[in-house]
Amino acid sequence: MTAYDTNNIFAKILRGEFPCHKVYEDEHVLAFLDIMPRVPGHTLVIPKAPARNILDIKPDDYAHVARGAHKIAAAAMKAFNADGITVQQFNEPAGGQVVFHLHMHVMPRHDGVAMLPPASRKEDVKVLEENATKLIAALKAG
Ligand code: AMP
Repeated sequence: MTAYDTNNIFAKILRGEFPCHKVYEDEHVLAFLDIMPRVPGHTLVIPKAPARNILDIKPDDYAHVARGAHKIAAAAMKAFNADGITVQQFNEPAGGQVVFHLHMHVMPRHDGVAMLPPASRKEDVKVLEENATKLIAALKAG
């Protein structure tokens, strides 16, 4: 497998070299909004540990990401008045991966509303800001 590339965009976000709409951070993970959301509130949870995908991440680091996704899912249900949540995590190009720092997609869903195809539309910064605010408030409310 290809080695982890420290210049991938999510590594730059982790180092603060590239901005993001952060919704949650702890010792092990960072969660921020996807800039090309497939649904409103589409969030990515990434490990702080460098890992390309499920094939090289340490199991404990993967568990931290799963814990983060679990937290975001509960908050997203409230923040977006959702009916359900889709969680996805792609590995290697054959598995649909485009950015090579492991990430879990957490997407709030509504009955009868389809997701947009991946990377179909860059969202307005203002909308991303509003959605981040909603998620942060739901996370705070517990
Ligand atoms: P994938 O690797 O297929 O799981 O998808 C990568 C995801 O990262 C896509 O949903 C992109 O919209 C998203 N993405 C790419 N660049 C950024 C960025 N700078 N900030 C937030 N999301 C991003």
